[in-house]
Amino acid sequence: MSGGDPLRRCVACRQLFPRSQLWRLVRQFDSHQVLLEEGMGRSAYLCRQLDCLQAAQRKQRLNKALKASVPDELFQRLEAQLLSHQPSGAPTEFEISR
Ligand SMILES: [Zn+2]
Repeated sequence: MSGGDPLRRCVACRQLFPRSQLWRLVRQFDSHQVLLEEGMGRSAYLCRQLDCLQAAQRKQRLNKALKASVPDELFQRLEAQLLSHQPSGAPTEFEISR
């Protein structure tokens, strides 16, 4: 079994996923800046689900895993990626009244 896609754990839902299905957040070893899919340093993985993204931000899961602060701008970028990949027909409106 080699050359496969290694499993990594999402920091929010704690489930294992193939590496290619996750976002990798990297705290740069020198600057401690957190970048997406770039550079070298401590890594944390997050699966590409809005629930996990929001939970990770709210509960500071990535910050704790990386021991660094993840900028809001990075969360916004990930959220924008998710929303742009939303399959057509998915509900996009939030009902306030009921
Ligand atoms: Zn997850």
